[in-house]
Amino acid sequence: MLKELASVIDRLEDLLADLQQQETPSPGRVFSSTTPEPISRLVNHWQKLFVGQSGPAPSALQPAAASGTSRWVEELEHLLIRLRHGHKRLHQVQQSTSNRLRQTTLLLQQSDFSPPEADALLSELEGPDAGHQEQLWKLIDCYQAALALCTERHTNISTSYHELRVRLQLLIDELPFSGDIASELNKIKRQLLQLVDDNLLPGLCLQLIELTIEGCRQERHNSTLFLAQLNNNLGEMHHHFAISLSEGEALFDARTHHGHHIAGELRAIGEHLVSQDNAPLKEEIELRMRSISHVLVQHERLQERERSLLNRMNAMEQQIQSLKRESNNFKQQLSAQNDKLFIDNLTQIYNRAAMEERLAVEYRRWLRYQTPLCVALLDIDYFKDINDRYGHLAGDKALRLIARTIQKSLRDSDFVARYGGEEFLILLNNVNPEHIRIPLEKLREQLKKIPFRFKNERVTITASIGATLFLQGDNTTSALERADQALYRAKHEGRDQIIIA
Ligand code: GH3
Ligand code: MG
Ligand code: MG
Repeated sequence: MLKELASVIDRLEDLLADLQQQETPSPGRVFSSTTPEPISRLVNHWQKLFVGQSGPAPSALQPAAASGTSRWVEELEHLLIRLRHGHKRLHQVQQSTSNRLRQTTLLLQQSDFSPPEADALLSELEGPDAGHQEQLWKLIDCYQAALALCTERHTNISTSYHELRVRLQLLIDELPFSGDIASELNKIKRQLLQLVDDNLLPGLCLQLIELTIEGCRQERHNSTLFLAQLNNNLGEMHHHFAISLSEGEALFDARTHHGHHIAGELRAIGEHLVSQDNAPLKEEIELRMRSISHVLVQHERLQERERSLLNRMNAMEQQIQSLKRESNNFKQQLSAQNDKLFIDNLTQIYNRAAMEERLAVEYRRWLRYQTPLCVALLDIDYFKDINDRYGHLAGDKALRLIARTIQKSLRDSDFVARYGGEEFLILLNNVNPEHIRIPLEKLREQLKKIPFRFKNERVTITASIGATLFLQGDNTTSALERADQALYRAKHEGRDQIIIA
């Protein structure tokens, strides 16, 4: 990536140099009004592609005040500043990651239980393909924790194993990969749910790290292909541009020369008309006319050259169009990937990451407008029994149906996310504080009414809910803690009920 980006920067620098050279107004420049158009598209396209990348030149997104070529020179200069900035940041991230990794590898090498493939994986992380840093670090932490658990054998070990498995399940939900990688991840998730032997956990962590690296590699590969393509197109454009420019200048010189020639001929005819009569005059006119028609033939040839130049410009235009199409595809892919980051794989409703963002937004809105905001935690009762009795696939199916039912039961303006395994978070905004129980009771009833049938048995699934309104002095954590305590009470007081704190 770094190499490709550097090469794109080089190309743009060349293009900019050409534009700058063309910027000085001169009668010899025929393309000052036509050339900026394709360049403008290129700049727009790049700006859209790199939106969101923080750079030192915010004005790069605004149209420059100057007009003509200088405007595009300015835009390209801003764009280059941002690209150089992005390049520097990528380089820094890569360096700090390798330092951190070196330390972790050292630590792990000191552990007797670290298998050789762990070393290989960790050294792979140093390569340029490692993305999704945050999740990879979390996975490495889990791996270290799993190793520690396998070696220390103290009494409360089963709770820690349970926590580790839940952490790993949540991490899998956060990984935004699709296709083969996603199905492999799901397989591991299923193993985590069914795992009997906890000593297998370190191995599963390594598999997860491996899959994440592979996923990153695929993502990087696509981005690199795209950059390489862009680079090629820029190179070709630059080439066409240089040819067009020099041809344009030559054409202009030739035209000026012929213009002078024609003017000279006409002047000569006029002088002869004034100074001569009859026969000699006629002869002279004929001679001059022959000369003029010769000039006209040459003029036609020049027009042909002009046409071929226009064709070249058209080819350039088409190239830019295809560049635009490619970048649109890329943008769509990016935005689909982005969406995936916030959607839970299993239930297809929002995930915990989306919840954190939304909670922060609703909290700020509540601070500003003080419209009542209710947060509720919903946990399915005895869900472990469903898995144990009917299998995990049945459990997964039930979770999907439960998520859909919660979503349908709420208003469009409400929000629901899968908070953890069989736990959901609900935000009800602008509620009547006297009646928050009403929508939650309706939801509890609807869940209870879902006609589940496993192994030909009619099964009723219930849920417990803990809810609270945001109160003066609350922040998101304090309100969530209150809802969690209310949920705990609902469980302890018999489940299948709502407690409002
Ligand atoms: P309680 O009423 O106290 O909430 O009991 P519970 O069994 O629902 O709670 P516990 O926390 O003991 O177990 C939660 C279970 O949910 C354990 C786990 O197997 C299951 N689970 C979590 N995520 C998934 C998933 O993605 N698919 C399936 N099938 N089961 C899951
Ligand atoms: Mg439960
Ligand atoms: Mg639970």
